[in-house]
Amino acid sequence: MLIYAPKSQQNGETRTALTPASAKKLVGLGAEVVAQAGLGELSGYSDQEYKDVGVTLVPDDSKRGEADIVLEVGTTTPALLSGQKPGSMFVGVLNPFIEGALVEAAAKANISAFSLDMMPRTTIAQKMDVLSSQANLAGYYSVVLATERLNKILPMMMTPAGTLAPAKVFVIGVGVAGLQAIATARRLGARVQAFDTRPVVEEQVKSLGAKFVKIDLGETGQTDQGYAKELTAEQLEKQRQGMAKVCAQSDIVITTAKLFGRKAPQIVTEDMVAGMASGSIVVDLAAETGGNVAGTKLDEEVITSNGVRIIGLGKLELHVPKHASQMYAANLANFLEHFWDSEEKVFGLKREDEIIEGCLMTHDGAIVHPKFSKSTEKSQ
Ligand code: NAD
Repeated sequence: MLIYAPKSQQNGETRTALTPASAKKLVGLGAEVVAQAGLGELSGYSDQEYKDVGVTLVPDDSKRGEADIVLEVGTTTPALLSGQKPGSMFVGVLNPFIEGALVEAAAKANISAFSLDMMPRTTIAQKMDVLSSQANLAGYYSVVLATERLNKILPMMMTPAGTLAPAKVFVIGVGVAGLQAIATARRLGARVQAFDTRPVVEEQVKSLGAKFVKIDLGETGQTDQGYAKELTAEQLEKQRQGMAKVCAQSDIVITTAKLFGRKAPQIVTEDMVAGMASGSIVVDLAAETGGNVAGTKLDEEVITSNGVRIIGLGKLELHVPKHASQMYAANLANFLEHFWDSEEKVFGLKREDEIIEGCLMTHDGAIVHPKFSKSTEKSQ
């Protein structure tokens, strides 16, 4: 099988879907691995490192149409998908709840498109979970970024010139990104508080040395995949009231509250931002799905009239592309390896497997994912 990794054509993308380490694994499986020269240049992997593990480099994107499997990072375009040969596979992220046109294009091009952001949240699938691997880095980087922008230091310092109090960090949303943000802020010596609508995370917050902010919202819960359920308008209002004081006392607020496949809830209102001290920092990790904070502008840093900096930069993992690529490429290689038929040396597309069922968007010219197929739409 010919596995091909192009250089990303997306503006601002710094990562790659194939690293020398993941390529080595795929070559070891018996695949022919071809990549576009320069694919790792923004993430810190040289062409020579790819050649050293047996990857054939090509100067342009002309191999896309010959490949059996195309590995992509970030998102793609309908034109790129239609450039693949019929019956081939696409492995990447289609963001299907937002980018319906990509799913349509993949079906039209008659390719089997796997969108790994749809990976089921099971133990066995963890090593293939691109959302988790990238959210982890985004959570880490949110603290690094906020720390760099803050006019204070994070740890307590007792010096002959006086004592500096530790900075106060408030993390809203304690999924993968939030947990990593808490851990990073704690390592830097901040005093950390956190809140999530899923009460099950309280223990995790405490185990990281942070305080869980208790707000009684009544019945909240989570889906069978571990994602938060949407709050009612009354619950959201209660949450805002419960948080206003904590926000006002915090030097850094990091919001990561997302709802899978839906717009993010707006949690931090204009009034709450107005209550924060000048020089405070808000990092909104939900900016790409509408933002958790009033006044967030995607891919911008906004300074409010009271001097609060709201950072709405999307995909913070793009700032640490070497590690982000290492994890993303490993997720993809683990996925291919998991289903690899070592005798035939081909990817075994087992339609009945729950991982395949969860991620396979299109096959045989049709949209086959249960959440997106036309038959599902009619029956809803
Ligand atoms: P996510 O990115 O969808 O959301 C981030 C967090 O925001 C979640 O913890 C969610 O509960 C929270 N949130 C939503 N609305 C909120 C609100 N109004 N106020 C406060 N918080 C709110 O979540 P995620 O990082 O993908 O993780 C979701 C869960 O899935 C976590 O428990 C995580 O540990 C689990 N998980 C499991 C696996 C696995 O088993 N393979 C993999 C990844 C994540």
